[in-house]
Amino acid sequence: MVRFWFKVPLWQRVIAALVLGIAVGIWWGPEAASIKWIGDFFIKSVKMLVVPLIFFSLVSGVTAIGDLRKLGAVGGRAMLLFVVTGQIAVWLGLFLGTMLKPGEGLDTSRLQLGAVPPPNETTAVDMILSMIPESPVKVMADAQVLPLIVFAMLIGVGILMAKEEGHPLIKIFDAGSVVMQKVTMIVMELTPFGVFALMAWVAGTLGQDALIALAKLVGLNYLGCIIIIVGIYGAMIHFLARLPVHDFFRGIVDAMAVSYSTASSNATLPVTMRCTERNLGVSNAVASFVVSLGATINMNGTAMYLGLATLFGAQVFGVELDWGAYFLISILSTLGAVGAAGIPGAGLIMMALVFGAVGVPLETIALVAGVDRIMDMMRTTTNVSGDAAVATTVAVMTGEIDRAEMVSADDV
Ligand code: ASP
Repeated sequence: MVRFWFKVPLWQRVIAALVLGIAVGIWWGPEAASIKWIGDFFIKSVKMLVVPLIFFSLVSGVTAIGDLRKLGAVGGRAMLLFVVTGQIAVWLGLFLGTMLKPGEGLDTSRLQLGAVPPPNETTAVDMILSMIPESPVKVMADAQVLPLIVFAMLIGVGILMAKEEGHPLIKIFDAGSVVMQKVTMIVMELTPFGVFALMAWVAGTLGQDALIALAKLVGLNYLGCIIIIVGIYGAMIHFLARLPVHDFFRGIVDAMAVSYSTASSNATLPVTMRCTERNLGVSNAVASFVVSLGATINMNGTAMYLGLATLFGAQVFGVELDWGAYFLISILSTLGAVGAAGIPGAGLIMMALVFGAVGVPLETIALVAGVDRIMDMMRTTTNVSGDAAVATTVAVMTGEIDRAEMVSADDV
């Protein structure tokens, strides 16, 4: 039995767990919440890895790239792809919202309003300042990912600048990074159990009523995310990376399943990194660097959703939006997506930033809160797939990919 279990590739076990979890949740109903702790156990185990993994792998990723000029080439390309795809994503959300009008004709009196999260008063200046760690130790203790990334990159750059004198540290960070990958492998074995419990919980507690009321918005959110994943990332892999699209998606199935069930880019980070390296053959340097960075700032699913949700709120409450407002939404949604933490519900909180600026009532947040989780799952999958797509494309562009590894995705 045990031997059979381990013989089945992990990604197949994960998919089976996902389907079984939904079935059990629907059959069991709200009571399914009683096994949510198994999912929490899994999420906690993965979260435990995030800070040491980002720290070790980002420093070792930066130093592995070797020299500052090449670092600029990899980082610059990754940032360019993040920004361009992010803008396409927001405008896609605005387009879908304008054409298909999810908020029109909705009878708000029949809906259950969730609690409104406290308004987010973060300004652009606050956001810039929050990227600088006041104390690296505090940043690690609180798992604040953005300043941690800044700190890790600076250490990496410092080591490169120190040349020979910095070499002992390169060894230490490389060793730390390898050890963290091994620990990740152990924790990954919990994935099928975690995914099963989380899916049962979501399917059981959400029920069908909430979904039907907001089906249009949920449907458009899924449509937008699928267009981004298949259209934008598929095109990126086909035209820019010139790799078989099917193999790419096959290689990241684990990361997609984990992101879908946990709704957290951060919690999925170790899995995304492993998939891009092991199944797609991206070099450790590029995977560590681009995926860690992307998990925090590259959130195209969230950017698209912020645009779509703003139009939804405007339609429900009859707020007129002109072109100026559209441009403002596109900029703020991009900023909101960059600033959103890779945790469940982060996008929901960022809505306040966009809504406030264009006069959409904050009540919209309460309106969508009940079904946010189910949309969050899909946008997180989009975010995570984007990190893998950009890492793979940049790896191809800079010659940091091993095609032979990619073909062996079968024996994951
Ligand atoms: N949960 C998303 C993520 O982790 C962020 C969001 O809420 O949109 O990527």
